[in-house]
Amino acid sequence: MFIKKIGIDLGTTNTLVFTPNKGVVVFEPTIVAYDLNDNKVLAVGREAKEMIGRTPNDIGAYRPLKDGVIADYKTTRAMLKYFIAKVLGSFNILKPVVIISGPAGITSTERRAVINAAMDAGSREVYLVREPILAALGAGIPINSASGHLIVNIGGGTSEVAVISLGGIVSWASLRVAGNKFDEAIIEYVKKKYNLAIGEQTAEKIKIEIGSAIQQKNKMESEVRGRDLDSGLPKSIVMNSNEIAEAISGYLEEISETIRNVFLNTPPELAADIIEKGIVISGGGGLLKNIDEYISKVTGVNAYVAEDPLYCVAKGTGIILEHVDMYKRAMMSKK
Ligand code: ADP
Ligand code: MG
Repeated sequence: MFIKKIGIDLGTTNTLVFTPNKGVVVFEPTIVAYDLNDNKVLAVGREAKEMIGRTPNDIGAYRPLKDGVIADYKTTRAMLKYFIAKVLGSFNILKPVVIISGPAGITSTERRAVINAAMDAGSREVYLVREPILAALGAGIPINSASGHLIVNIGGGTSEVAVISLGGIVSWASLRVAGNKFDEAIIEYVKKKYNLAIGEQTAEKIKIEIGSAIQQKNKMESEVRGRDLDSGLPKSIVMNSNEIAEAISGYLEEISETIRNVFLNTPPELAADIIEKGIVISGGGGLLKNIDEYISKVTGVNAYVAEDPLYCVAKGTGIILEHVDMYKRAMMSKK
């Protein structure tokens, strides 16, 4: 069997590849590891992530995307090439048609860079679709309807808030506050309160295990290991979910501020639709416990997390691949 259509969710943190027959076939960190002696790619994705923080001097592990756009062209191309080959098989001669995601505010230069990278990686045709549209589609929202929908996509590097109606984005805002900032806030909090240094991966692990967007009566606990800043020796402490909520509260407030701003720029009729339908949350940040309750509370509008929030954008690419005629308006080419 051959596949000639693929969708790519090119996220700052995770890259997902979707095929119409098999669904999500790749879900790996957006990371490439190089041998610095000869600039050869050593590993891509999960394998490369494991090298971060543990690499000898002659291996470099890079995240090719920053804030949703290409920061390192060569590395992005290498990664896309690797994933496309992985999905199609190295002996495939049919070049695929590719739908690829980009941030809502992507500039035409950035758009050309993404499309060129995917073309160079071996595609026949490449179309870019803005992430909020893909996230909304993947969340099951009928984006072509005349009704307004508000989607909040909280990824690793950026959060995007967009109002969608009649297949297009009516108002939107993006901020560089998302999962990675939560991790940084946890690192700072642990340093200040416990005089303990912890790494990024440890912070992310605690966030996923016990992190909560709001304080709770029944708090969860987890053991946290790091290095004592005075003695320099390993030390372990126990943290609870309310401490995580406290640590990330400033960043959550920034996200809610952005949602309120988008509401301010939304025509009243569409705002009325959103109040009726509710706010939809997608992206990995949607998995933070009680994020729906938090957003409902700060906006006064009912909010809910889409099914499989990490997969929404990838699933959205799949929906466009199957109904290209219906979504022509959302598909952007090079120009
Ligand atoms: P991007 O689109 O930027 O690649 P993703 O939508 O893949 O980002 O989300 C990645 C972010 O989601 C990371 O910051 C990760 O820590 C966070 N995340 C993943 N699972 C959870 C969870 N269960 N709870 C809280 N955050 C999570
Ligand atoms: Mg994403």
